[in-house]
Amino acid sequence: MIYADNAATTRMSEAAIEAMVSCLRESFGNPSSLYAYGQQAKELLEGARAQIAGLLGAQPSEIIFTSGGSEADNQALLSMAEAGARRGKKHIVSTAFEHHAVLHTLERLKKQGFEITLLDVHKNGIVRPEELENAIRSDTCLVSVMYANNEIGTLQPIRSIGEICTRRGVPFHTDAVQAVGHVHIDVKADNIDLLSLSAHKFHGPKGIGALYARRGLVLQPLINGGAQERNKRAGTENVAAIVAMAAALTESCAAIDANAARLLPLRRRLIHGLRSIPYSELNGDEEKRLPGSVSFCFEGIEGESLLLLLDDRGICASSGSACTSGSLDPSHVLLAIGRPHEVAHGSLRLSLGEDATQEDVDEIIRAVTDTVAYLRGMSPFWRDLECGRRTHVFAEREV
Ligand SMILES: *Cc1c(COP(=O)(O)O)cnc(C)c1O
Repeated sequence: MIYADNAATTRMSEAAIEAMVSCLRESFGNPSSLYAYGQQAKELLEGARAQIAGLLGAQPSEIIFTSGGSEADNQALLSMAEAGARRGKKHIVSTAFEHHAVLHTLERLKKQGFEITLLDVHKNGIVRPEELENAIRSDTCLVSVMYANNEIGTLQPIRSIGEICTRRGVPFHTDAVQAVGHVHIDVKADNIDLLSLSAHKFHGPKGIGALYARRGLVLQPLINGGAQERNKRAGTENVAAIVAMAAALTESCAAIDANAARLLPLRRRLIHGLRSIPYSELNGDEEKRLPGSVSFCFEGIEGESLLLLLDDRGICASSGSACTSGSLDPSHVLLAIGRPHEVAHGSLRLSLGEDATQEDVDEIIRAVTDTVAYLRGMSPFWRDLECGRRTHVFAEREV
């Protein structure tokens, strides 16, 4: 089996499993209890917080634990909206290709009277900082731009965007769920005010994440109850998952350069191999992307059929985000970078793990090449293209 869907979730690392199991076995106390068992759990909790903060260049008091990336996104946006509204600022700038955790929260805010500007991301899948600056107004209370896109893998000019937001005095949130543990991030150097992360995207457990909020920004709790997380997130902390998240992040961050060095030649090979398929195109910039991430569109096929046939050949991939599979709508990300509907349906996302090999990549190329040809052979739509009753969207390429 070749697991090439690490953007959907990752396998837990041994270090994370170890940390989790040993915490479940030996430190079951409630960190809010005053006796030694509780205090032992509390120490683990605060140790994990300091570790995670340190890896991001933040202070421990600037990290709160959440149930994952979606919750962190929701809390960041709703908190800044509430703070903005109190000062009469009800305008938010974001992008058309954010994760639904951001986009659907923005839709909710729109219903509450906020004005939302969603920036275009252009064909290369990258937001232009000058366009972002032009969109900021005197009543803008938040800018939210993801660090790396979860469908096409493109990295955004976060530092420049952060610099603009700092200069214009607007809080800057980034959904960094795909980037944390995979590229170097320093919230202070990158001028980030709020950042969302999720453990299961860097070999930690599912259902745990964190929100970084720069000191001075006021977060609103989404979950009301006890005084945990400095009154910003009620409920007994999931200490075992938090400790596992810290272990996973420590390991991932230490290996960022080594992983990139291994993955970049594999990514290049994969892109080159898939480009040899006629009427195919890479989605997003070729270089400014996550080290293991490749996304393609193929004319004349359905992404879902491709996935099922790849599964038969032992390859786990995705057609877009896990959240849109099962829906008939083409991906909003592919539409945002200007792919026409009929091509957006024929997409394939491959996100390699750090342990991927050249043999894996060559097997993926063979399987995708065969399967695309097979599906086209059965497609009346493709026959129309072949005999000129329809015109191609992609240019023919010399191969
Ligand atoms: C996975 C993902 C999320 C959601 O994180 P969960 O922990 O699964 O809630 C949010 N944003 C991006 C970019 C993601 O890739």
